Amino acid sequence: MEYKLQKPVHGTIGTTKYQCVIEWRNGQFIADEPEIQGGKDTGPDPFTLLLSSLASCTLVTLRMYIDRKGWDIPEFKVKTNLWQSKDGDSTITFIDRDITLPAGIEPEKKNRLLEIAANCPISKLLEGNIKVRSYIFHEEDVDKKIKYTNGDITVVWKPELCKHSGRCVTQLPKVFNLKTKPWVTMSGADTEAIKAQVERCPTGALSWIKNEDTPSE
Ligand code: SF4
Repeated sequence: MEYKLQKPVHGTIGTTKYQCVIEWRNGQFIADEPEIQGGKDTGPDPFTLLLSSLASCTLVTLRMYIDRKGWDIPEFKVKTNLWQSKDGDSTITFIDRDITLPAGIEPEKKNRLLEIAANCPISKLLEGNIKVRSYIFHEEDVDKKIKYTNGDITVVWKPELCKHSGRCVTQLPKVFNLKTKPWVTMSGADTEAIKAQVERCPTGALSWIKNEDTPSE
């Protein structure tokens, strides 16, 4: 498992209703709720952010395609909105995406651009199989390093980075087992097996150090 974003999106909210500071790879922006929802409308709301993602992905994907083809389309626009309807207990969401091209584009080109838009990465993501996994951390855990030793090496686990891919738990359950306390049992395998497993952690949550290299704390 490898994450798409090297730097995850971080959001923080305080008591000012409902201003969220969203930090992304290269800066930050404010998200908020409209006044009708009790916010101050100082930034886009979550639905707007979602639709902006689709709009920008469509624009970029089409621009790349148009440029590759060498078509003369200097500017075009995308408008997105959504509506929802109830079907028994479930909610069905319809997202409409309107692409406006300059006048005079041939019908074959328009059809091709529609196909390309339907295959932009965010379209595929929204229409695919999505699962949201949520975990709770305490503030004090964020920079916490938890250490386990077997005399030879010390395994360091950073809970904030652990995304529970489950790789260690399924591949070396005698050492990594969420049902035991602590969840890492260093006597469960030899040092080489533990080192090899730690190096397979996809997020960097696990690392190891030789005990003679361990700085005293
Ligand atoms: S420590 Fe690494 S391999 Fe184990 S569950 Fe967390 S992210 Fe996955």
